[in-house]
Amino acid sequence: MSRSGFVLFPAVNVSLLCYNGRQWMLSQGWVKSLESWVWIDFSLSVFMLSLFGYVFLRNPITRLHKAYLSFHFLMLMWPVSHFLMHMTEPPAVQLFFFSLSFAALSLQGLGWAVFIYFLTGRSYLLTRRIWILLAAPTALSVLLIISNPSHRFVGFGTEADFDFGPFFLIFLTQLFLCFLVSINCIIRSRLEGMPVRRRGQVSMALKGQLMFLLFVGADILLNVLFDDRFPDIAGLTSFGMAVAALYFCISIQRYRVFDIVRIAQRDIANSMTSGLMVLDADGTVLEVNHALQSYLSVRSGDRFDMRAYLRSRQLPAHTVEPFLRRYSDIVPHRAVQELALELDEGPFSGSLRHVQMEASPILTPEKELLGRVITFQDVTEIRHLVEEKHRQNEILQLRNRELVQIRDELFKANLKLEELATTDSLTGCYNRRFLMQRLEHEVVSNMRYRIPYAIIVFDIDHFKGINDRYGHLVGDEVLLATAVAVKDMLRRSDVLARYGGEEFTVYLPHTTRAQAERLAERLKLGVESNRVRIGDSEMTLSITISLGLLSIENQSPLTVMEPKSYLRDLFQEADNALYEAKNNGRNCVVGRMRA
Ligand code: GH3
Ligand code: MG
Ligand code: MG
Repeated sequence: MSRSGFVLFPAVNVSLLCYNGRQWMLSQGWVKSLESWVWIDFSLSVFMLSLFGYVFLRNPITRLHKAYLSFHFLMLMWPVSHFLMHMTEPPAVQLFFFSLSFAALSLQGLGWAVFIYFLTGRSYLLTRRIWILLAAPTALSVLLIISNPSHRFVGFGTEADFDFGPFFLIFLTQLFLCFLVSINCIIRSRLEGMPVRRRGQVSMALKGQLMFLLFVGADILLNVLFDDRFPDIAGLTSFGMAVAALYFCISIQRYRVFDIVRIAQRDIANSMTSGLMVLDADGTVLEVNHALQSYLSVRSGDRFDMRAYLRSRQLPAHTVEPFLRRYSDIVPHRAVQELALELDEGPFSGSLRHVQMEASPILTPEKELLGRVITFQDVTEIRHLVEEKHRQNEILQLRNRELVQIRDELFKANLKLEELATTDSLTGCYNRRFLMQRLEHEVVSNMRYRIPYAIIVFDIDHFKGINDRYGHLVGDEVLLATAVAVKDMLRRSDVLARYGGEEFTVYLPHTTRAQAERLAERLKLGVESNRVRIGDSEMTLSITISLGLLSIENQSPLTVMEPKSYLRDLFQEADNALYEAKNNGRNCVVGRMRA
């Protein structure tokens, strides 16, 4: 391999081994004899490479990883370059490795600043302007270091040493600028109130960087500025870098910056149909899932202002204010807000959907706010189902009301039918059918319990004559007036029925013969004294009735074998009494007794 080839690809030849046909050996000519202190740089490179491998293997790659690993790799370049420099003989190659270590240090300034932006959660602030501000001086510095025009960055000194030229100042300025930008980032994020978890990470990283600066400062003081007064102390800057790297590793491990569970959770979140967004306490978007893109156009690192968002949705203030109050409360409860959104992506893109937005705070055990989880769920289908259910319910209620109304009407119609079936339309008394049905039951129980009762059959005297003289309408009125008069004289439990024509029957339950006779007399007198008006005229007429009375007392239960024929007998007997009353000259009572 040519000399220039080695200079261009030192990494390939880093082993510095060659095969001479018999055995592998260290390349002669390139390598000078190794002094024991040279191994300090080498050991530290191996140590840092191991840390690099550990972090790289143990953690899946995220943007933060990439930033960190690039930074760590650049740190590694310093001791490696120094090691290689000490391993090589030709001054030009040594100069190359020496320059390479400074180029790596220059890049490290940029790497440190970018890493701090990621670590403080302010990567969203890495705008093109900031990138140019950081990258342009770094690129210039690296270019000047590598090209080293007229040895104005570094050249050989008098005592086989390196002397720095004026470009070294440009390199220092660039490093200082990167340092200033990163410190500015830390101070600003501190002032704006950094989330608790980050606070620990950043202060740890800052400590690491301060340690590094301490060692670099010591290196410059002892080995550059006052090298004549002090003996050479090798590897100070390398040691500073190793300590800084150790601090960063601890920071990352302790505060779980690269958490595999978080990665798994993100995968789960991405398989959800609801939109999910995790915000930092200061409103920076930390995490979004795929589904969120349909509802909201934000990316990790963006700022999300809930108030501004709701204002853009033009929601009524009376719904927004209570939501915002709950949203800003640091108590573990959910704030829910319904939105009408036109979706940007997914199967319903372009259509207006009902979306339920829910926000819950993420709190530390000490109730400090870490961030918020906001979800967006399309509830259109549920809404429609609920509305449909409400509609069906209303229809059912209407049907129910109609059915209740029909039932009431049927009940009334039934009552009417029952009334029609049991009463006489002209007089309003019970009809013969009802009386007979009732008596069929009553006589049996009266017999069984030896309850006395009576039956009165009465007939209007000379009714034919009334019909003939005043007409049928007056006859009807007389019938009605007589029924009313009789009913008024009866007890509630007595049953008055029109037996047929102008003949009536009264059933008197729980009535002895004496009571029945008294009542029959009262009825006779009552009807006689009841004057009936003839039509619209002032004329009144008086009628009389003849009554046949049958009272039943102390009947043996055995007597009632067949209630219908028994009743027929009873009525026959009462009729006979009535007949006798007619024969006796009418307007009188004939009583009979059945024992
Ligand atoms: P008596 O004293 O013997 O009973 O003489 P009466 O004239 O009442 O004779 P009877 O009992 O035989 O006459 C019944 C009459 O009653 C015959 C019929 O025209 C009349 N009648 C029957 N039902 C009605 C009715 O609903 N309305 C009217 N106005 N008359 C009726
Ligand atoms: Mg009659
Ligand atoms: Mg008659």
